[in-house]
Amino acid sequence: MICSGVDVETGQPIEVEYERTIRAVRPGSVTDRYICPSFIDIQVNGFAGVDYNSPATPASEILRSIEVIRSTGVARFLPTVITGGPDDMLGALRNLARITSSAIEGFHVEGPHLSPEEGPRGAHPLRWIRVPDIAEYRRWQDATDGRVRIVTVSPHWDNATAYIEALASDGVTVSIGHTHASPDQIANAVAAGATMSTHLGNAAHAMIRKQPNYIWEQLAEDRLTASFIVDGIHIQRAFLKSCIRAKGVERSVLVTDASSPAGAKPGRYHLGEQAVDLTEDDHVVLAGTDRLAGSSLRMHHGVANLMKLAQLSLREAVRMATVNPARAANIPGRKRGLVVGERADVLVFRVENGEIQIESNSFIEP
Ligand SMILES: [Zn+2]
Repeated sequence: MICSGVDVETGQPIEVEYERTIRAVRPGSVTDRYICPSFIDIQVNGFAGVDYNSPATPASEILRSIEVIRSTGVARFLPTVITGGPDDMLGALRNLARITSSAIEGFHVEGPHLSPEEGPRGAHPLRWIRVPDIAEYRRWQDATDGRVRIVTVSPHWDNATAYIEALASDGVTVSIGHTHASPDQIANAVAAGATMSTHLGNAAHAMIRKQPNYIWEQLAEDRLTASFIVDGIHIQRAFLKSCIRAKGVERSVLVTDASSPAGAKPGRYHLGEQAVDLTEDDHVVLAGTDRLAGSSLRMHHGVANLMKLAQLSLREAVRMATVNPARAANIPGRKRGLVVGERADVLVFRVENGEIQIESNSFIEP
């Protein structure tokens, strides 16, 4: 198989020959479209009306949602299970783990060991917020054949250090998020092996002291890669631009944090046990409130938004959607870009009026 276009990374027209991996990359002649690795989204709670947080979601529905996700340029993603009852979280992971698709690279568990405080907690249900529990983490791994890749935790808990060390020693990416942790607690988390910040700037108090605070601490810590929900709703333009400049593009990752209404019509949906509404202006909120509960963002729109809102180049924006998430979540076959030996997830697209128009998204099946 061969795909052609202008290499986003070098600006040169290339031809990529591939089967399950990339076999050859050589000079090409097609200049009216771009070519890059397909996107990787490391935080997806649901899509196309399908809720990944319900243990009862049928496999056929999950497979249908994957087709819609692929139409947004994504080849691989981490279905994300948020805070819920222990049996529901385990059930949701087990339900997702039985799906055979090359699109599901592993899982992200966001919670339940998060901040109970209003603001940092975001839309995670208070009654299920609980103390870090390594035994519970082991049950998640047993239920998924060891495929939990990222766990988001708040390091304010007394036993957070031991928890983070245990997960990091398994090769799991520990991400700081939904937290009100002190500077010392954040420093201890990083020393214990935390390497990421989950949607930095969201899930925070509406008012925080100017310094020190948990946003500056994470922003200034070069050992933390940060993810951002770039839908133009969750974080304001100046904050996004400042964060990416402080972190550097290499330590910045685009995520959708999409929940079930993403890619569906406005109306009522579910996120685990909670009802959520997709409003006419694309906000996903806990039903009847203005509290954000994930997004309706699609990855190709996020890439375009990075160019518009943070003034990134196409090359920088694509890096935040491909090699950077692969490095952050330790995803094989994608850490180097479109080079021989990497996995044959190849995306061809055009840019029209600042928007990404997907032409083709090639991916391998298991
Ligand atoms: Zn979150």
